[in-house]
Amino acid sequence: MNSDEYREWGKKVIDYSATYLDTIRERVVYPEIKPGYLRHLIPEHAPLEPEPFENILEDVERVIMPGMTHWHHPNFFAYFPTANSYPSILADILSDTLGVVGFSWASSPACTELEIVMMDWLAKAIGLPEHFLSTSEDGGGVIHTAASESTLFTLFVARDNLRMKSKSGQNSHSVCSTTMNVESMVAYGSKLAHSSVERACLLGAVQYRPVGYDDNYSMRGDLLEKAIEADVQMGLTPFYVVATLGTTSCCSFDNLKELGEVCERWGLWLHVDAAYAGSAFICPETRHLMAGIEMAQSFNFNPHKWLQVQFDCSALWIKDRRKLATVFHVDPLYLQHNKQEEAVDFRHWQIPLGRRFRSLKLWFVFRSFGVTGLQKWIRDTMNLADYFASLVVKNEHFELFRPRSMALICFRAKGSNEQNRDLLKSVNDEREIHLVPSEIDDTYFLRLAICSTQTTQKDLDNAFDLILRHFQKL
Ligand code: PLP
Repeated sequence: MNSDEYREWGKKVIDYSATYLDTIRERVVYPEIKPGYLRHLIPEHAPLEPEPFENILEDVERVIMPGMTHWHHPNFFAYFPTANSYPSILADILSDTLGVVGFSWASSPACTELEIVMMDWLAKAIGLPEHFLSTSEDGGGVIHTAASESTLFTLFVARDNLRMKSKSGQNSHSVCSTTMNVESMVAYGSKLAHSSVERACLLGAVQYRPVGYDDNYSMRGDLLEKAIEADVQMGLTPFYVVATLGTTSCCSFDNLKELGEVCERWGLWLHVDAAYAGSAFICPETRHLMAGIEMAQSFNFNPHKWLQVQFDCSALWIKDRRKLATVFHVDPLYLQHNKQEEAVDFRHWQIPLGRRFRSLKLWFVFRSFGVTGLQKWIRDTMNLADYFASLVVKNEHFELFRPRSMALICFRAKGSNEQNRDLLKSVNDEREIHLVPSEIDDTYFLRLAICSTQTTQKDLDNAFDLILRHFQKL
């Protein structure tokens, strides 16, 4: 494909993608296919000779679309949202065009420098404390691929800083055992923390201690402290705590202030996972939910979930970037450059070496929407969620599992778990709307997250009517 053909087909692909989104409502939100459906739609081997692009693009409808779950369909209410906006898509096209691999400042200075400034813009927009900014003495932000990566990465930083201190005899950790082997180290998170926390512990070869929660599904300081005390008694070494702001199951918030105080008392690293809910902090009225944030060592959220920035864009801030220097520096000659004393090299701030020019998406989105446009989007989705919650509350057969939190409603038919399971299956089998369930303390419930920019009150009326119809058929 030469540049003239690229121009021609580029316009056609943009047209196709705009039409896809304009007409997405006409598609069925969830596919009706079986695993392995795709294999027989395409040849067994890659073509030996080039094919016309026209044929390739045509095959998107024939091969890909039948197997699509349409995440941006107005009736997609599952999981948490993944963001979708035109400025962000355009930024990704540009990022792919520039095609740099920004592992060091020298490998593409603009890639590193825009990321540093965008992470500062983002930190200021959501009201993070000054010490997370790159302009502070020791703080700074970086874009990761996913929240799971940030958890794993900060767990490694916390683990290895403690071990190195222990080795060098400078350890001031209040509970550090003299023999600091990894297996004796313990990380904590709520029983409702995302599964990526337990996974990070598996990968980091440390123990994971899930901690209980109160009636509000919030991990509290006293529960954490009891768990820590019990582990210390057993000769173990607590070192890392994940506080979740916006749990996946029900969007509950751990008590960051209490957890922060416990972590400060015991000298533990406090990481905040606000993967979904963090976007809402762009609205000042939600920020009481992150009270205590000044005690966190690291904070992460996914603008790619709810802030109009396309996947992948997971924002991580570290309070003390010197902690990275001690554990993650491997410096082969071929990666060195003559500005590394004064510049940031993001390869030390992440697990892989390679990285895309992702900050372009933040830049384009911030400038296209403005902070007020992003605030409006967040507030509109929360209002829609309130509307759906009101439909649930008004109906005698349904109840809220807990009050609306952010743009997520957890609800159930009044009845047994079995009935609710059957209800969800029946609803999803019709494939008009798509929901996923959750279960907490043996109560099974349905989750409806406002995801698509195209969802309206009428869609929610229809969704509720559909759920009711399936309930009445049970
Ligand atoms: N943490 C929470 C609270 C989440 O809700 C999720 C996913 O929904 C994750 C972590 C994992 O996110 P990622 O896919 O970015 O790793």
